[in-house]
Amino acid sequence: MQKLIELKKDESVLVSSIPEKYLKPDYVYIPIKKEDKLLVNPHEKVKIGSDVSTTSISPISGIVKSLKKMSSFDDALYYLEIENDFEEQRIKEGTKKRKFLPEEALKVLSSELKNKKNLVLNAIDDELYVVTENFYLFLYYDVFLELLDDLDNMFHLEHIIVCVKSNSSENISNLMSDLGMYPHIELKMLPNLYLLGKTEFLLSYLGLNEENTVVVKASTFYDAYNTLKRDRCPSDKLITISGNAIKNPMVIQCKIGVLLKDILNELIEFKEKDVLFIAGGLMQGKIIDIANFVVTSYLDSILIMKKEEAKVSLNCLKCGACHDVCPKGLYPNLFSDPHYFEQKKNICLKCGLCSYICPVYINFNKYWRKDNNE
Ligand code: SF4
Ligand code: SF4
Repeated sequence: MQKLIELKKDESVLVSSIPEKYLKPDYVYIPIKKEDKLLVNPHEKVKIGSDVSTTSISPISGIVKSLKKMSSFDDALYYLEIENDFEEQRIKEGTKKRKFLPEEALKVLSSELKNKKNLVLNAIDDELYVVTENFYLFLYYDVFLELLDDLDNMFHLEHIIVCVKSNSSENISNLMSDLGMYPHIELKMLPNLYLLGKTEFLLSYLGLNEENTVVVKASTFYDAYNTLKRDRCPSDKLITISGNAIKNPMVIQCKIGVLLKDILNELIEFKEKDVLFIAGGLMQGKIIDIANFVVTSYLDSILIMKKEEAKVSLNCLKCGACHDVCPKGLYPNLFSDPHYFEQKKNICLKCGLCSYICPVYINFNKYWRKDNNE
């Protein structure tokens, strides 16, 4: 097992233990990708769960408006605007073919689990200040345990393991009080080391083999629970909004497709005016412009950080710290050599540890962004 490190964080940034809700937006925006086909027309009425394209559903009931240019963490060409009618009408999904399940949720359902011996529920957030996965488990642990038990009865698994960080005291006490009813489900409390949330490192820590094991994030398990137990396509999600530039870091349950700035206006109190917005975490995320930014399925967090503390890159000191910390043994300080970068870019995990450790704040993100034409 590689040497992993604990990230240092500003202890004054504390996420509230009570999540807020933002489930009645005026509008939502559904990402439409290049390969998608639209299945609705302007002015058409849709219900929650209606198919609006070949890969997406409407998370609200309302009226289809138009296609707009927006931005998000996804790679979408356009966004379909739907105006909420607040009728909360839902289509009966029992009659519908389940073709729009998130891919990961399908994994749990499909024959893949039939050939596996182990199921790991991963509730670990690797990023600093992000507690989204932790909160999925905190809010839904009782139904998650029921679903794990059902899956065990169906597939006769050797190991069912729920993984949490050892500092997640609420989750641990909730799980401990209920696990007596599910003797086959194991709880593993993991140290607070960066990258243990990534499947490769988690399996190595647990001593399990990737070929025999399905690892499911708690957020994905929430989608699976909605699909299997409630017969619903997921229309809402959790995100952490945190950082040292706001007064009230919190987890928010929101509709998929809401505008980030609407959530911020309604729920977040700023301490600072000059801030940076980072989507997807300090280590692996990217700075965004929030003007038309949409909260889509894959977004787990927004960090709002003081701008004056943004680090400025100086020249490399050749200290070797970036190589020492790299879990893949790469030499990130050589990424400026296009030949070396080309050879190693697919080995790199884009975990950001090299930038985190560098004493002169060299930001290696720029090489991946350039490679993706971002
Ligand atoms: S981002 Fe890539 S090069 Fe940097 S530490 Fe992680 S794996 Fe190594
Ligand atoms: S950690 Fe920073 S200063 Fe040290 S070798 Fe790597 S890039 Fe250079």
